[in-house]
Parts: sequence; structure tokens; C-alpha cells
Amino acid sequence: MLKYLGIEPEKIKIGVFDFTGCGGCELQLANKEGTLVDFLALLDVVNFREISSDRGDDYDIALIEGSITREDEVERLKEIRKRAKILVALGSCACFGGVNTLKNKFPLREVVEEVYGKDRVETGQVRALGDVVKVDLQIPGCPVSKEEVEKIVVNIVNGAEIKFPKYPVCVECRQKLNTCVFDLGQICLGPITRAGCGAPCPTGKVGCLGCRGPAEEANYESFRQILKDHGFSTAEVMEKINFFNALPEMMIDES
Ligand code: SF4
Ligand code: SF4
Ligand code: SF4
Repeated sequence: MLKYLGIEPEKIKIGVFDFTGCGGCELQLANKEGTLVDFLALLDVVNFREISSDRGDDYDIALIEGSITREDEVERLKEIRKRAKILVALGSCACFGGVNTLKNKFPLREVVEEVYGKDRVETGQVRALGDVVKVDLQIPGCPVSKEEVEKIVVNIVNGAEIKFPKYPVCVECRQKLNTCVFDLGQICLGPITRAGCGAPCPTGKVGCLGCRGPAEEANYESFRQILKDHGFSTAEVMEKINFFNALPEMMIDES
């Protein structure tokens, strides 16, 4: 246990919670035990079902995965909001609704019956956390980057400024000397999506679907020109954007 002048400093209490999501963002945190031990040494984890059986409700920071789809989730989220000093949306589902919002594009009853049959399953329109409560910080990604989350939590603990890259995924993709997937005949949202993931999708020859949300320094005019030069329609681009619901539609619709 770390001590300074013989005194053990008080640790920040953290709770990690999940709503409608796949558990992938939480798993990222629990992953790669090499850095987990140092990371946890800074914190007092009072609630994190993937790594601990403790179920405390006294926390300073709440990291929350998943989107909101049911009324009981609304109540639970509001309770967490009341208790947390800092509420962090963890991952694209929590930040934007994420892949779950695909459900919102179809008639709810039809979708539910298609998957679960006629038995009633309680589920509603998908919402991001910020549609229900005040969110202090968004950490995007599907899943989040463990390194990024650890760095951000350490900065919160130390009161340091939290910065995300302003430039788009293309910058990281170009640094890897990848072949542009537009040249392979696919749409890629890398030119308008916030970097920080290391461009794994285009590196694997799959177009970026924008899971990290909009890049502040994106050049939309140039992006629209790229789409036009490659003959992609607005409908084709919207299909990609709708996948994570992380990029505002109007950015493309102006073309
Ligand atoms: S953002 Fe992706 S990895 Fe995280 S909970 Fe949602 S679907 Fe899972
Ligand atoms: S593949 Fe995508 S991210 Fe990479 S350079 Fe081309 S448009 Fe940009
Ligand atoms: S390349 Fe795009 S879709 Fe893939 S992880 Fe990065 S931001 Fe998300």
C-alpha cells in the first residue's frame, strides 16, 4: 500500500455500472492485468461486478456502460447520478446510444416480436445517458480503449486537464501507411471521426463506422467531395452513420 510521510492517502472511490450494452467496455477495463494492478492501486473500487463482489453505493466517480432502454434503468441511472460527483459515460452505447439505436429505426413491437416472439419483453426507445441525466464526461469507443480510460481516470484523480484528439482517424490511419479503403470500394467515416483508437478498422481493410463520434478538426466539405468522387449516395453514407448513431446526420445531409 502506498504511503506518504507514513500516511496512507485517501483513495478516490469508483463504481462501474452497466445498462443496456454488451459488457465489452467493462471487459476492456478488467482486461490486460499488467496495467490493472497499478491502475487499481490509485482507486478504491466499491462497485464493479466484473472484478469484485462488493456492491457499495458510496462512490466519487461512476463509470457507466450501456444505453437506456427501460423505465427501471431510468430510475437506477438517476440514483447513480445523485450519488456520483462525476458521472462518466463509458463507450459509444452510453455516449450516443450506440449500436442499440438501430432498434429505433424500426417499429418497436415488430422488432421485439421478431426476436422474442409474442411474449411481452419490456423495452423502449434507446437513449444515451445524456438524454436522461447530466453527464460530466464522455469516453467514446466500441469498445473504449483501456489505455485511454486509465489515462482519463488518472487525470480526474489528479485534477489534470482531459484532452481527446481533435484530428480525425485518417491521421492515425495514414501514419500506419494503410491503403485507403475508399480505394478498395468501401465507405469509410475516418475523415470525420475523432481519432484515438489507432484506426484498427481501416487497418483491417474495413471502413471506419465512426464509433468515437465527430472529430473537431474534420473537413466536411472535403469528405463530401470524397464521397462524390467515389460515387456514394447520401443513403449509403447514412447507413454507415446510423450504425453507431455517433455522428450527427446533418453533417452529411447538406450535400
Ligand atoms: S460501446 Fe460497444 S463494447 Fe461498449 S457496451 Fe456498447 S456495444 Fe459493447
Ligand atoms: S481508410 Fe479511412 S481512415 Fe484511412 S485514410 Fe482512408 S478514409 Fe481515412
Ligand atoms: S476506426 Fe472508426 S469504427 Fe473503428 S474503432 Fe476507430 S473510430 Fe471506431
